[in-house]
Amino acid sequence: MNIPQSSFPRVIIIGGGFGGIALAKKLSKKDIQVVLLDKHNYHNFQPLLYQVSTGGLEPDSIAYPIRKVLQGYPNFYFRLAEVVRIEPSDRKVFTNIGDISYDYLVVATGSETNFFGNKNIEEKAMAMKTIPQSLNLRSLILENFEQALLTDDLHERDALMNFVIVGGGPTGVELAGALAEIKKGILPKDYPDLDTRRAQINLVQGSDRILPAMSEIASSKAEKFLEKLGVNVWKDIRVTDYDGKHISTDSETTFEAATLVWAAGVKAVSIQGLDADELLSRGDRLAVNEFNQVIGHPEIFAIGDVAQMETKAFPHGHPMMAQPAIQQGQNLGINLVRMLENKPLTPFVYKDKGSMATVGRNKAVADLKRVKFQGVFAWFVWMFVHLFFLIGFRNRVVVFINWVYNYIRFDREARLIIRPFKKQYQNTKRHQA
Ligand SMILES: Cc1cc2nc3c(=O)[nH]c(=O)nc-3n(C[C@H](O)[C@H](O)[C@H](O)COP(=O)(O)OP(=O)(O)OC[C@H]3O[C@@H](n4cnc5c(N)ncnc54)[C@H](O)[C@@H]3O)c2cc1C
Repeated sequence: MNIPQSSFPRVIIIGGGFGGIALAKKLSKKDIQVVLLDKHNYHNFQPLLYQVSTGGLEPDSIAYPIRKVLQGYPNFYFRLAEVVRIEPSDRKVFTNIGDISYDYLVVATGSETNFFGNKNIEEKAMAMKTIPQSLNLRSLILENFEQALLTDDLHERDALMNFVIVGGGPTGVELAGALAEIKKGILPKDYPDLDTRRAQINLVQGSDRILPAMSEIASSKAEKFLEKLGVNVWKDIRVTDYDGKHISTDSETTFEAATLVWAAGVKAVSIQGLDADELLSRGDRLAVNEFNQVIGHPEIFAIGDVAQMETKAFPHGHPMMAQPAIQQGQNLGINLVRMLENKPLTPFVYKDKGSMATVGRNKAVADLKRVKFQGVFAWFVWMFVHLFFLIGFRNRVVVFINWVYNYIRFDREARLIIRPFKKQYQNTKRHQA
């Protein structure tokens, strides 16, 4: 990997997401050689992926080069590499570009979409966890409307304009709201020769309320906002199968839709070598102690989505959100230095700043530590918080300008099919024009 030997201890961080970057920043000026490995050369701001999928933002404005984040830090090395295996007994990491040894290892690989073993859904549904996936979804949404114009089969036209989003967490709610706004404000102007009123946006939730991790008031208000926007909210229904067109559920309700977006669950990205049964906890997460040490491996740490730290306040582990990842990265940064100085470690305590979800223009819900509020103010707070945590000054400016422009113009101009998405399994009749 062309990384020099150093007299400083070597810390390898796998993953330049929220946790990995926060940790690397903490170690930046210490007597430690830091090697950050990521399979992408950019940090992905996942909370705004749905805006990429719906043409509100260009992908570049929510991604940031990892090398740029850590520019000028001494003793810091980034390598574009996918880690395939860890060998704890040799203290070695194996990647697609070679292997490297470590003194301390930090796993910050995040999470991926969980299809709960349903192969049909995995193959045919759309996920939205990465920028390429969001671009695929953006292309598919737009291609569906282009195709709806061409078919004279009414059934097929309806299916092409029917969107089913599975999972009533923040991702599902935000995507459903954005699609409903497109239907109302953009489609009639873009497709005057198509009856876009027939387009349907369905949000399917397995439990009795959407946003189940938030307060009851946030759930019911978000549901009202969605209904106002024309989204069909289905509760207590679980999607069980999808063949590319027909969606079955565990109830009598079925859907015919060319697009199924799966936002119903995530699981940790585990790496071979550490995925022994005794280490794996809920959702494939690695069991860690209060210092983020992987149980049984004092020199290996896990932070963020991949780590399962069970505490009194969080008996099932911390929420798989950006804040726990950032805070664990920062705490581990302090602890690694303390460890090298033979000082006692500080246990991680999560400072819950609350959660938010936006449903659309002027519509958001916020459960903060001491106060819960909904509507226009929540929407402004949501925008401010997202701009604040977005990495990079340019990205903040670009996103801010886009949001102001979209707000004034009721528009989302990044509705471009740059890289067409083709469903391999779909056999759609096309009208011979
Ligand atoms: C659509 C969406 C919306 C979200 N909205 C919110 C929100 O509004 N608020 C909120 O708090 N949270 C939100 N989240 C969750 C939040 O993004 C995650 O909790 C957070 O990213 C976790 O941080 P992390 O550092 O653990 O992992 P990540 O940020 O996912 O970073 C993991 C990194 O590891 C790299 N990696 C993975 N495997 C390997 C490998 N084998 N080799 C090399 N590199 C590897 C990846 O490329 C990635 O860069 C959202 C997530 C999604 C998908």
